[in-house]
Amino acid sequence: AKQQGRNTYQWYSQEFNEEASYRVALRNELQDAIDQEQLSVYYQPLIDAHTGQTRNVEALVRWQHPTRGLISPADFIPLAEETGQIIALGEWVLRKACRDMVHLHSRGFRHCSISVNVSPIQLRKEGFILTVTNALKAFGLPPESLELEVVESAVLLDTDVVINTLHAIRALGVHIAIDDFGTGFSSLSYIKLLPANKIKIDRSFIKDVIENRSDAAITQGVISMAHHLGLEVVAEGVETEAHATYLRKNHCDLLQGFAFARPMPFDDLLAFLNDQGAG
Ligand code: C2E
Ligand code: CA
Ligand code: CA
Ligand code: CA
Repeated sequence: AKQQGRNTYQWYSQEFNEEASYRVALRNELQDAIDQEQLSVYYQPLIDAHTGQTRNVEALVRWQHPTRGLISPADFIPLAEETGQIIALGEWVLRKACRDMVHLHSRGFRHCSISVNVSPIQLRKEGFILTVTNALKAFGLPPESLELEVVESAVLLDTDVVINTLHAIRALGVHIAIDDFGTGFSSLSYIKLLPANKIKIDRSFIKDVIENRSDAAITQGVISMAHHLGLEVVAEGVETEAHATYLRKNHCDLLQGFAFARPMPFDDLLAFLNDQGAG
């Protein structure tokens, strides 16, 4: 038994070391990625539930690593948040997204706006508002064409700082969406405090919304609450036509998910929007 205990310990310890050294390596390589243009931004359409047209696209960062291949943002964003690299990375994504959106507008898609994910770390950093105004000015993007996606838990730390920043952002004319709604364990009373335009219902509620009564009750409740507060509602993770039909019937405003389009490079987005316009 003693022997087995020791092996178990070694196994855990080895796995822990591998995990730790992977993270140390990634952390160093992330700086190269930012400096050497290994990052790119993909775009996923948000579809108007009534017209079927794309009203908005979400910017999602991608890391094409020279030897490790494609690394998921779910792996490197938390790391970048720990090291503070999220500040430079986030600003890079914001500027790239603004530039691409101006390009999209010049191709005739002026009704389309861009959503950019913003980490709580960025929101709490002094100078964030200036970063946003500089990005808009640098490329000449109208503030109304930019939306920032903020997770509801962003307000749990430094509540006053974050809420003031969000108000200043709204004052610029930039829109705010509450991301992953329902997963943050925050009090519903925060919703009152957040100067948001939109709520995005997390895909964990949408996945089984048709057959699971709790998910259906939560989804319908959130849609109703949001509308009473004057907010629009996006359903994330809409993977099937049945999901889309259900959500339309329940008055969801915007649909996002693989049923319509996956995140894609900018050139593919242009082709997608051109097809949509023609069809
Ligand atoms: P998120 O903001 O909730 O983004 C939506 C995620 O759901 C994306 O994953 C997208 O590819 C995925 N998705 C979209 N439709 C479907 C669907 O129908 N089914 C399923 N199963 N998944 C779907 P992705 O691109 O891997 O991004 C993961 C997370 O990484 C994002 O979640 C966001 O939290 C973070 N992230 C990505 N880009 C950025 C960024 O530029 N800045 C920050 N701070 N975070 C980012
Ligand atoms: Ca998001
Ligand atoms: Ca989300
Ligand atoms: Ca998420």
